[in-house]
Amino acid sequence: MKGYEPRSSSSCAACKFLKRRCIPNCIFAPYFRSDECKKFAKVHKVFGASNVSKILVEVPEEQREDTVNSLAYEAEARLRDPVYGCIGAIALLQRKMVELQHDLAIAKDRLARYVAAATAAAATAATTHDHVSLPPLPEFFSCGDFNDNLCHSSSSQLPLNRHESVDDFIQIPYIF
Ligand SMILES: [Zn+2]
Repeated sequence: MKGYEPRSSSSCAACKFLKRRCIPNCIFAPYFRSDECKKFAKVHKVFGASNVSKILVEVPEEQREDTVNSLAYEAEARLRDPVYGCIGAIALLQRKMVELQHDLAIAKDRLARYVAAATAAAATAATTHDHVSLPPLPEFFSCGDFNDNLCHSSSSQLPLNRHESVDDFIQIPYIF
């Protein structure tokens, strides 16, 4: 006789991992299915089962799944990058965003100058009844520096090595 079958296939991943009986109202059961042992192991390693349990109790039930998902994401990132964890990914995206905003500003500036030159040329042609001709394309459209910048920016490796600091991310409300 096995009695209650404490660690049967119906036990959640947390109770399997912790080698305890999974009770009907187990706080972990809805979020750590029996086949998600790795997910719980990572969360447990970084946060500890007790702390995860406390966090879940404090969170409204309808938000617990999102809570577990973010804890799992954070744990995964921390195990992959023990120094920066999630901040490493955020810093990389933050730096790429700044670089792309810079590239976009350059592109807009060049486009504005091209439009201004085209407008001036059209006005001159209208007054002289001459043939309207557009000015030659600026170098932006013929050289590859914009794309090159994008390629270089994506090859960046470690975050937080230039102007960035962790404080920068306070400006970013959402990362998902
Ligand atoms: Zn359980």
